[in-house]
Amino acid sequence: MMKEMNTNLQDFSHKRYNILSGEWVLVSPHRAKRPWQGQNEPVSNERRPSHDENCYLCSGNTRTNGEQNPNYKNVYVFLNDFAALQEDSEVFSINSGLIKAQSEQGICKVICFSADHSKSLAQMEVVDIVKVIETWKKEYVTLGSEEIINYVQIFENKGAIMGCSNPHPHGQIWSQSSLPNEVVKKDIMQLAYLKKNNRTLLEDYIKQELELKERIIFENESFVVLVPFWAIWPFETMIVPKKSQKHIALLNNNEEKKFAEAISVITQAYDKIFECSFPYSSGIHQAPTNGSSNNHWHWHMSFYPPLLRSATVKKFMVGYEMFGSPQRDITAEIAAKIMRALV
Ligand SMILES: [Zn+2]
Repeated sequence: MMKEMNTNLQDFSHKRYNILSGEWVLVSPHRAKRPWQGQNEPVSNERRPSHDENCYLCSGNTRTNGEQNPNYKNVYVFLNDFAALQEDSEVFSINSGLIKAQSEQGICKVICFSADHSKSLAQMEVVDIVKVIETWKKEYVTLGSEEIINYVQIFENKGAIMGCSNPHPHGQIWSQSSLPNEVVKKDIMQLAYLKKNNRTLLEDYIKQELELKERIIFENESFVVLVPFWAIWPFETMIVPKKSQKHIALLNNNEEKKFAEAISVITQAYDKIFECSFPYSSGIHQAPTNGSSNNHWHWHMSFYPPLLRSATVKKFMVGYEMFGSPQRDITAEIAAKIMRALV
């Protein structure tokens, strides 16, 4: 059943509820009421060589710690030379009045998506993105089976604007003994929903979104790409498997291809919005590897891109957003419409 879009949401200030985190985002559509006039400021999209002898991630090159990368052809994973978490660090806790601390152990890895220095996921073939997904699956299982690891966070920082220091296509995998804040929030909300409804939260959410069709950008047999109702970043999106699945290791061969297709479609659409290599942070939230059944988890991949109006104008999370709550002008529905036209 198709419902009329609620025009109040496009006309008046309101807050939207994030069903995954239990938090609110303030939306002020009247501030973006004028027709979309996103300028196309061509950015110096410098062409990179497919192999850069100064890049520490390129195949065969030597990293700063003196180790040499093998002559890898596709995907290459190695332990982060400057890891934020370490496997063998001292275990301790401090509980002294109001001063509280706990040691944290972990394993951090870097994953090169391709041997080609000049490419990003948007320019990679779907078959090559499948190889990245297969490596993510393997790392999730291997790291997750370590005694000290209870959660595996797969993510990518793309673009200098996101603090990414090297343009070589790569991501990271941080795994650790405790659950990070964002995962704890989603764990609580999804568990409460499953207990009450006996279905996963995202299974029902996707069903509703597919009926409304207001925020869907793309779908294939296994996945939906959409702008979540509660999106904070102007062009925030989420890739969600249609069937309830708690982690990526459960993806079969066909689903891997469909997932790769979804990544390819959304990253290409991103590059078209402002005709630039679109910066973002993306990450996969999935079931902790803490030995629990975690049937309440429905994994998903989120993209948080900072650009607002052009390749050079980004959204700042400052002022009210630091002291109050996140806020956006352009609504999720308008953002979805812009991106849908680029798919
Ligand atoms: Zn490189």
